[in-house]
Amino acid sequence: MKNKIIDVKGLTKKYGNKGSLALDNIDLKIERGKIFGLLGPNGAGKSSFINILSGLSNKTSGKVLVCGIDLDKDPKTIRGNIGVVPQEINIDPFFTPLEIMNIQSGMYGVKKKQNKNLEILKNLDLHEKSNAYSRSLSGGMKRRLMVAKALVHSPTLLILDEPTAGVDVELRTKLWNYIRLLNKEGVTIILTTHYLKEAEILCDEIAVINNGKVIACDTKNNLLKLLDDKELIIEFSDKVNSVPQKIKKFIISKEEKKVVLKFKKSQISTAEVIKAFVGKKFKLKEITTKESDLEDIFIKLLKE
Ligand code: ADP
Repeated sequence: MKNKIIDVKGLTKKYGNKGSLALDNIDLKIERGKIFGLLGPNGAGKSSFINILSGLSNKTSGKVLVCGIDLDKDPKTIRGNIGVVPQEINIDPFFTPLEIMNIQSGMYGVKKKQNKNLEILKNLDLHEKSNAYSRSLSGGMKRRLMVAKALVHSPTLLILDEPTAGVDVELRTKLWNYIRLLNKEGVTIILTTHYLKEAEILCDEIAVINNGKVIACDTKNNLLKLLDDKELIIEFSDKVNSVPQKIKKFIISKEEKKVVLKFKKSQISTAEVIKAFVGKKFKLKEITTKESDLEDIFIKLLKE
């Protein structure tokens, strides 16, 4: 079980006596070394899940092992293994980034010799601001400082709640690169996201949560295989009167010089579709393809 950084069984969370179940008997295992994405619509239970892991909220029932340690037996050691980057920015404006980092290090009992705060600030492009008042930092800098703060105690697991919500494209790419770098250095990453492209770009494995239940959990590649729909748009230089019989059933729209086809990759290959046109002396001008992405799969899963 050592390769599992998270091993959760029957995890249930209910807020108050009358509340509905925010987490409904969840079983989930997450392997060490992965970038793991938790996806789900608003209110699905993602924050409840990570808040329990990070000790911010108590579970109602179930068993939670983090790094093989039972949350009921040793929550303190678990907290020492986890770094959490919450969604909301909470930074004291009257301290400098370095002071904030040092206070955080003190709270986690990091020894002076092991203090890597300047290095962390440098990696996040914040070293020039390390002694400036935090209130003078831009929104993007504050967000990076939140990540820096979560790393002071060199956690083996970093949990990020919507890491790039509301950030611009440049910062998003920077954060993604940094998350990848940390992961390469051995840090397991769990992130929640609304942004399906983010999960598609970043995550090795994904769990989809809805109404407090895990409705899918697999590698990203397997999830992407769930729908093997492919769309092919073929444009021609000349007017097209009739299309080859073989591919007629796949056509979803036709214009004078353009046809759009939709098919399952298991039914026919793109090469076969194109060959059908080449053989009939059609003058092909442009071919565009569209594969199903995580968004299509997400919608399908939620519908089911
Ligand atoms: P997500 O992070 O996926 O948006 P949450 O875990 O925040 O979902 O919420 C799951 C459910 O639990 C929702 O129905 C939400 O209203 C409820 N909930 C979350 N936090 C609280 C709380 N502190 N008190 C009562 N209900 C809550």
